[in-house]
Amino acid sequence: MESAEEVYIAAGRDGTLHDLSGKLPDTGTDKEYLIFAYDGGLVTSRAGRDIYDQILAGAPFERCPLCGRGIATTLDHQLPKSEYPILAITPANLVPACSKCNQKKSSVDPAEPSEMLLHPYFDGLGTTRWLGARIHEESPARAEYFVNSGEDWDPTFSARVVRHFRFFGLGKQYAVAAAGKLATDRLQHAGLLRRAGASELRLHLQEAAEGYWSTAGNTWEGALCSALADSDWYLNGGMNQV
Ligand SMILES: [Zn+2]
Repeated sequence: MESAEEVYIAAGRDGTLHDLSGKLPDTGTDKEYLIFAYDGGLVTSRAGRDIYDQILAGAPFERCPLCGRGIATTLDHQLPKSEYPILAITPANLVPACSKCNQKKSSVDPAEPSEMLLHPYFDGLGTTRWLGARIHEESPARAEYFVNSGEDWDPTFSARVVRHFRFFGLGKQYAVAAAGKLATDRLQHAGLLRRAGASELRLHLQEAAEGYWSTAGNTWEGALCSALADSDWYLNGGMNQV
């Protein structure tokens, strides 16, 4: 198991987790025992549960790192334990997740590099900015989210981010959440515009965006505030049409 973990971590760093077959020890008839080590050991035994909870506590602000919205209440096997029982209790393969993402992901086993969902431990989810938003300047205003690929990105990584975004339905999830925030913030932003002007409102939104980005990486709130700060329409009274 320790040698399998070394292979796994090296592949995670290289972006080759889709191609582990043949590189891990053959578990033969031990498969059910290895899976029991997770189900009966890590999840339900008292000593194991402490370790389970420690890994779970790694989620920033207890948020699911896969969607950024749900509360991380479970551990998800990045590579499924049904296919990779030798990795059933490998910490690097156990990612905090909300139950919805965990269920959605189920036993996804990528066959191609571009099919690999993002791995929170290896893919710089928090530090690489990839989430963008634009404001549809109409009544009622709404936000649309998209993947903002960096110009220097490796094409495979770019494809993976898009796949992750689509697989978890992040565009829809974030747009719905943003609709609520647009409605909630409308009066505050209108008041700031009235008292201090459009440039102060822009500054406020930019600072708010930086706050979101600095604490939780690619947050839908950060992308929304950035998009609002870039919208002259919003800064000059568009919020009254939200
Ligand atoms: Zn989630």
